[in-house]
Amino acid sequence: MSNCLICANTYEPFMSFGQMPIANAFLSPEQFPSEYFFELQVGFCPTCAMVQLVTQPDREMIFHENYAFFSSTSARMEAHFMEFADLVIKGYIQSADPFVIEIGSNDGIMLQHFANSGIRHLGIEPSANVAQVAIDKGIQTITRFFDEQLAREIVEEYGQADAFLGANVMCHIPYLHSVAAGVKILLKPDGVMIFEDPYLGDIIEKTSYDQIYDEHAFYFSVASVSYLFEQHDLEVVDVQPQNVHGGSMRYVIAHQGAHPVSSAMVAQHVKEDTLGLRSAETFDGLRKNIEHSRDALINLLRNLKQNGKRVVGYAATSKSTTVINYCGITPDMVEYISDTTPIKQGKFSPGMHIPVRSYETFKANYPDYALLFGWNHAEEIMAKEQPFRSAGGKWVVYVPKLQILE
Ligand SMILES: [Zn+2]
Repeated sequence: MSNCLICANTYEPFMSFGQMPIANAFLSPEQFPSEYFFELQVGFCPTCAMVQLVTQPDREMIFHENYAFFSSTSARMEAHFMEFADLVIKGYIQSADPFVIEIGSNDGIMLQHFANSGIRHLGIEPSANVAQVAIDKGIQTITRFFDEQLAREIVEEYGQADAFLGANVMCHIPYLHSVAAGVKILLKPDGVMIFEDPYLGDIIEKTSYDQIYDEHAFYFSVASVSYLFEQHDLEVVDVQPQNVHGGSMRYVIAHQGAHPVSSAMVAQHVKEDTLGLRSAETFDGLRKNIEHSRDALINLLRNLKQNGKRVVGYAATSKSTTVINYCGITPDMVEYISDTTPIKQGKFSPGMHIPVRSYETFKANYPDYALLFGWNHAEEIMAKEQPFRSAGGKWVVYVPKLQILE
């Protein structure tokens, strides 16, 4: 039995993935003996509908000065954040001197659009190395974790905000009540919080269990997000499904009664009831689907190995760590993982220690099969890698189901 971080009632885990390393902790051989592991377990709280990690690993283990994830590495994500900023500028900030805040502002991929439009802005980014990239671009950024105390300090120094934004950050924060309390303090009477995160409904529909790893403390639905914010006299007034990160949901939050509730919001509640997002049986079904997905993938990789085929991983994503370790994918099944991020190259994948090599290595000697760890960018990647397929290369994709694409 565990206690829910949102409503404090007890719940049972529905699944354990076993001992897991930190998903983004690519490492050198001298670090192998001291590698950190924790049990990756998830549970569904029947009281508030929140799906959450049972054990929250130490945050300093995850987000530190060497945190390797930079947002501005994909043309598609660049375009996505330009569209997000545009939506906020045109639809949500009409005051004479608007003020926009973003938490987890990373290297400024979204805030740069506000900075370029001369809009008062503030980025809050706890990882010093990525925050510095934003500061160098002229984006005002502070290196802190956001909570109720910081919200008071910001109001004191800058005043209240018209918009408080977050992308792929809220689901990382275990102490969400302090964040929601901070949002309540920070927002102007007609201000909005707009955030997006991977959506639980997509994880269930696609069996995309690789979304489950240490950084993601929560797996949100409209039901659970509504429950959380209602505790702070805030409400979800609109939802907008997003086709990024394998299926995300954007939530618009406002002070209770300040904005009308959209028909999309009402419709999504109905859809979640149909999907069974408030029912424990749904998660038993998810566990079974995850086990089937693992068995299918590992059987395929064993067969390819027996037949002497060369298999290489494509993109050393955080997501891949859950798949590699849960399925037991070893370096003799996957020769190396190709990745364009210089600081990952020459290192080894967390847990199973598959080498990470440069993209040029992949280009120079195509394997028979490429295991697509960045499946959420499949379209962009496959278009780019047409020469690999022309040379007879095949893709292995495991979401939403195992497929070989010739
Ligand atoms: Zn709960």
